[in-house]
Amino acid sequence: MTLLYRSTRGTQADALTASAAILQGLSPDGGLYVPTQAPQLDLDLTQLPELSYQEVAFKVLKAFLTDFTDDEIRDCVNAAYDDKFDDPLIAPVSHHGDDFYLELFHGATIAFKDLALSILPHLMTTAAKKNHFNKEIVILTATSGDTGKAAMAGFADVPGTKIIVFYPSQGVSAIQKQQMITQVGENTYVVAINGNFDQAQTNVKTIFNDQDFLAELAENGYQFSSANSINIGRLVPQVAYYFYAYGQLVKQGAIKNGDKINFSVPTGNFGDILAGYYAKNLGLPVNQLICASNQNNVLTDFFETGYYDRVRPFFTTTSPSMDILVSSNLERLIFHATGDDADQTAAYMHDLETTGHYQIKPDELKQLQNTFSAGFATADADREAIAKVYQSTQFAIDPHTAIAKAVADAYREKTDDQHPMVIVSTASPYKFPNAVLTAIEGQEVTADGLAAVAQLQDHIHVPLPQAIQTLFDAQVRHTMMVQPDEMHQAITKILKID
Ligand SMILES: *Cc1c(COP(=O)(O)O)cnc(C)c1O
Repeated sequence: MTLLYRSTRGTQADALTASAAILQGLSPDGGLYVPTQAPQLDLDLTQLPELSYQEVAFKVLKAFLTDFTDDEIRDCVNAAYDDKFDDPLIAPVSHHGDDFYLELFHGATIAFKDLALSILPHLMTTAAKKNHFNKEIVILTATSGDTGKAAMAGFADVPGTKIIVFYPSQGVSAIQKQQMITQVGENTYVVAINGNFDQAQTNVKTIFNDQDFLAELAENGYQFSSANSINIGRLVPQVAYYFYAYGQLVKQGAIKNGDKINFSVPTGNFGDILAGYYAKNLGLPVNQLICASNQNNVLTDFFETGYYDRVRPFFTTTSPSMDILVSSNLERLIFHATGDDADQTAAYMHDLETTGHYQIKPDELKQLQNTFSAGFATADADREAIAKVYQSTQFAIDPHTAIAKAVADAYREKTDDQHPMVIVSTASPYKFPNAVLTAIEGQEVTADGLAAVAQLQDHIHVPLPQAIQTLFDAQVRHTMMVQPDEMHQAITKILKID
């Protein structure tokens, strides 16, 4: 069986193979690609505890990417999940207090996006070969800090690709800036913008839609692509760690095979938690998926009322990767909640674009509530969760993970649900040292950057990840800086197009 992918806003007739959907990214009608049938996972749960991360990833990818050969999938998996990760388990589960923590921060940028962005470049270049694409793929991205870096770490020196990242020169942290300017790889290009993130992002979108420029690129052997989180090639690899986590809990004796567990997931764009939903649909014994938000709690309201309303104040918080009011990947869940009704989904998304809100039907909401619970935590609750976990277990969690922990605690209090709880841990505490220190010391800490990292290490005694250790000794490789309206010329110059 070949599993095809259709747009959440389009017809079955336009469905593509997995490899074509990965190359396409977003559907031309604005929708997101979803499988047209249930994927068939060839995985017996009783085997799960004995499988390596790579073996689990192989089986999950094979279920979704049916036009890839076994060898192709194996090559992609082995190229991605290697010693770029500082733990041989890739995504280990640790146990502290009453909770299990699925640690997704052992990759090159010590945050969860590494799990998908380390394999996406290999899926893309394999897909390009399969579709007889003869152009070099140029990944173009604007970043507020994290995603661009994780994408570069993934694409660095992958043959057949180049990556160009624009970041706001004043809009990133000291550590993020250092990560940008020292990025290695002969095919990586980093450009600072003398402006803000919105300008960078708007101009990247304009460039993506500039048909004359795209034609000029094609003549020179280049094709733009995007690594953003709506690509099905980012979503599918994330399904693997939900299965792997389950196998580890069985292996550790924490549960018996077949027992149901909960996951609490710190959510922004709804990519991470949506992968959990696909895992459940593939047969993983999941009781509830808890959608944890920070003060930008648009999803909490949505799962309670079925009313999605992005017209509300935007808060800048200590969990910046969750500061999002439009969660793009939610569109896939809406599509499934409507019974795979593309017209209904398109109508909701049209409402969202024109009025800023939409209301799903009561039966659609009810169906979602069977699987999803939602809650949010304020900045104070976030800080308290970091402090409480550290004081009771000596385990330091980052501010994103702490949102998931705070929301999980409130959920248990409210529901008395006793299923084992896995807190999906999306970043290393060393990635947000100032916020973690402030919580642990119980007072505002001024140290930032490397000084804060050192001060944090004095408390938690966790070895510094390689990503941090080498950062401040590394050679500066990228110094290009342009005005926002010069991004087009910067690309022309980088690609040596006259
Ligand atoms: C991106 C990110 C999230 C949110 O994940 P989504 O897939 O966007 O919901 C949470 N925590 C960290 C550290 C992240 O980088």
